[in-house]
Amino acid sequence: MMERKNAWKEYSPTEITQLEKLCKDYREFLDAGKTERECVEEIIKLMKAAGYEDLEQIKKNGKKLKSGDKVYATCMKKTIALFHIGTKPIQEGMNILGAHIDSPRLDLKQNPLYEEQGFAYLDTHYYGGIKKYQWVTIPLAIHGVVVKKDGTTIHVVIGEKEEDPVFCITDLLVHLSQEQLEKKARKVIEGEDLNIIFGSQPLKGIEKEAVKENILKLLKETYDFEEEDFISAELEVVPAGKARESGFDRSMILAYGQDDRVCAYTSIVAMLEQEQPTTTSCCLLVDKEEIGSVGATGMRSNFFENTVAELLDALDEYTELTLRRTLANSKMLSSDVSAAYDPTYGSAFEKKNTAYFGKGMVFNKFTGSRGKSGSNDANAEYIAQLRRIMDDNNVCYQTAELGKVDLGGGGTIAYILSLYGMEVIDSGVAVLSMHAPWEMTSKADIYEAKKGYLAFLKDA
Ligand code: MN
Ligand code: MN
Repeated sequence: MMERKNAWKEYSPTEITQLEKLCKDYREFLDAGKTERECVEEIIKLMKAAGYEDLEQIKKNGKKLKSGDKVYATCMKKTIALFHIGTKPIQEGMNILGAHIDSPRLDLKQNPLYEEQGFAYLDTHYYGGIKKYQWVTIPLAIHGVVVKKDGTTIHVVIGEKEEDPVFCITDLLVHLSQEQLEKKARKVIEGEDLNIIFGSQPLKGIEKEAVKENILKLLKETYDFEEEDFISAELEVVPAGKARESGFDRSMILAYGQDDRVCAYTSIVAMLEQEQPTTTSCCLLVDKEEIGSVGATGMRSNFFENTVAELLDALDEYTELTLRRTLANSKMLSSDVSAAYDPTYGSAFEKKNTAYFGKGMVFNKFTGSRGKSGSNDANAEYIAQLRRIMDDNNVCYQTAELGKVDLGGGGTIAYILSLYGMEVIDSGVAVLSMHAPWEMTSKADIYEAKKGYLAFLKDA
């Protein structure tokens, strides 16, 4: 069996300092961005501070782009593409880092608020693949926007500050759970039972639905919004609380939404740290991966292609043919989290072809399920080039599949970009308890992923 080395064993004190700095900044990014919208806002802040300009503004001003320029483009405030123009003609292709910034969660329904037996509830519809029983009896926060008919947007974040209230979904007490505990795990808590308790205090002097009336009064006072405004709201229920260091040796991070913000953040840092690239660098951070990359802000939309067309136009190089060449000649690391080997559930993994904590950035030749179905299967020639780049830059890496062959599987955005005929490979960071409210990663893997992205942007 080919052994991959453990990254921790090689670090110098300087590297440990860099690793700790990166992971601290990463935790702050996770705290600031618990939804795709918050992530995009946060990324724009970081990029603007580093001299990135809004492509739309550049087009409006009729400004032209040249090598060295740094621009970003967004789609509906939920997806963002970053470009750092290289010295080589763009037609020769770009080096693209891709990841997604949406994470599994509970969305409020459009008509969410109701009262039952003295409780006001918010009804939810879960987003992405979750084990529903993991979401009860933990503190929850609500993040999102309410857009009123007049177009004004109310930003909502409740449950993150020390003095904020938090929310909760109840579970049946164990004393009365004889029947519940006989059920299959997928049925123990059902989707329609993911109801958030939102209040219990009745409004004085009101007979009917007095608790709900009190909530509506508070919503009006706090945010100036009416019940009907829920119709045009995107309110996401996520685990409350900050990303934390984990383990007595503080070698890991426990946080919500690391799938796939761990890859998104390390990709951004690579974009920020790189010097003037030869090959144009691109970082594409998309929404809707967890529900199949659908919609205008998902990878399957034309946003990316249109943005590259706009970019070529701003470089005075747009033709249909240069667009196609630029895309086909590009190379991509399509980054998403990998399932880390979990000794407690060892039988789900095939030990030779599994990602391990501390063994660095992960490359997956393919993903998919039932015989690689739905996966992008990266070319051996491309993988050989990446091996060279990673070794030349001292990046610790490993290769993996997602668990045992017939146990299940999953897809990523890789196959969508490969439709342009470009080289694409799945890569990323190993995660324990993927899609759980709190997911775990290794600091060493985060550090190695950032190093790997930087090496890719420079040398691919
Ligand atoms: Mn996922
Ligand atoms: Mn993912």
